[in-house]
Amino acid sequence: MRGLWLIGLYLGIVLAPLGLAATGAAPPRPALDELASGLGMLAFAILLAEFLLSGRFRAISGSVGMDITIRFHQLLARTCLVLAMVHPFLYTSPFGAPVPYDPTRQLVLTEPGVALATGAAAWVLLPAFVLISLGKSAVFKTYEGWRLAHGLGAALIAGFAWHHTVHAGRYAQDPLLKGLWTALFVVALLSLAFVYIVRPLTQSRKPWRVKDVRRAAERTWDVVLEPEGHAGLNYRAGQFAWINIGHSPFSLFENPFSIASAPAETGVLRFVIKEFGDFTSQIGSIEIGTEAYIDGPHGHMTVQGHTAPGIGLIAGGVGIAPMLSILRQLEADGDERPVTLIYGNRSPDQIVDGELLMELSTRPNIEIVHVVSEPAPDWQGEMGMISASLIERRFGAPSRRDWLYVLCGPPAMMIKAERTLLGLGVAQTNILSEHFTYD
Ligand SMILES: Cc1cc2nc3c(=O)[nH]c(=O)nc-3n(C[C@H](O)[C@H](O)[C@H](O)COP(=O)(O)OP(=O)(O)OC[C@H]3O[C@@H](n4cnc5c(N)ncnc54)[C@H](O)[C@@H]3O)c2cc1C
Repeated sequence: MRGLWLIGLYLGIVLAPLGLAATGAAPPRPALDELASGLGMLAFAILLAEFLLSGRFRAISGSVGMDITIRFHQLLARTCLVLAMVHPFLYTSPFGAPVPYDPTRQLVLTEPGVALATGAAAWVLLPAFVLISLGKSAVFKTYEGWRLAHGLGAALIAGFAWHHTVHAGRYAQDPLLKGLWTALFVVALLSLAFVYIVRPLTQSRKPWRVKDVRRAAERTWDVVLEPEGHAGLNYRAGQFAWINIGHSPFSLFENPFSIASAPAETGVLRFVIKEFGDFTSQIGSIEIGTEAYIDGPHGHMTVQGHTAPGIGLIAGGVGIAPMLSILRQLEADGDERPVTLIYGNRSPDQIVDGELLMELSTRPNIEIVHVVSEPAPDWQGEMGMISASLIERRFGAPSRRDWLYVLCGPPAMMIKAERTLLGLGVAQTNILSEHFTYD
């Protein structure tokens, strides 16, 4: 329901300039000119709204989920690009040239000089910007370098586009529309200021310290943070946070990780972190006591508040992190609904919290299914990958169609699991998932 509200709000924002322009009193022009202006306005409105779809605003990603927010951001960036690229080619009226029937030149674009140049700059930079975003790992050595360039680049393009729109745009000569464009542009810039200045300021007042770092499994670490002088984080099991360890709160060095502890375990936050790149491969050498900052909680992959008769969890590798939080919270709540966890790993050495899972599996309502693709000779559990047939065997009973399912792991596993569950008749709204990469 909140998702529908957000879509309505989004459409309201991006269509508002077009609506205002349509109610304006400018004399009519050839249809293609109107279309050109309309596409330009729509492209700019979408570009400005992209700032709010960065995934860092809890009101949005907490309602529809991080995956949907980011996929929406990526899809709309491409839409904006297409609209903006087409925009100048549709004009039929010559730029600034007087025509006999239009002595006051109201039917053509005026002030082409600088305003046209800023439009051209935005028009050239936008495709470069989108292409760089698509190939960011090839262009930037670090994710942080890309983040910086992405934020600054977006602000620069929006600045050029704003100047072009309010000076060259025929409809923006209406003070109301000009004011709306400026207000939307300011909101976009404020959203950057919020993420990079205001929120770090708030975080600096709520520091954390590394309480423990220990090996959890092969190339996987348990990192425990404790709050310093404050009550900690108010979150729901299954959510995640951006964590910054050992840098200033204003630094771009922060990474998203699911919270593996449960809200019921007061105080500390626990993360299960797999070695991957620059930051995570150093995680084992972080010193106890190092200062840390948390931006969270984010995400909507939580079973709290869902009244489904049972819960199916499907995790691959480090995708177990949010599941541990969910399992711990269900246990703490004394929730007696049936729960089945399917947990896939390459080898038994990679199983995180094996003892806890074994203990939980002794509860009458909890079933833990380990799946290992490269098992030792004495392995007793399921073998291979988390396949469609395994999911069908475990969740295919009609009584499990109304369960709530939570998926987290490698993208291929998640796609397969989701398709299989949908094929079993599970409603899309009963499937929650979180991807660990948006590339
Ligand atoms: C919602 C979410 C939850 C996650 N939970 C876990 C978890 O519980 N345990 C775990 O081991 N891993 C988790 N990850 C993955 C983890 O964030 C990356 O493995 C980690 O950030 C890699 O950082 P790096 O510096 O080691 O590698 P890099 O080489 O710097 O980054 C590798 C990739 O990680 C991603 N990444 C890096 N930094 C960021 C960032 N600031 N914002 C978004 N994506 C970034 C990008 O896809 C990037 O291409 C999660 C990711 C997401 C999006």
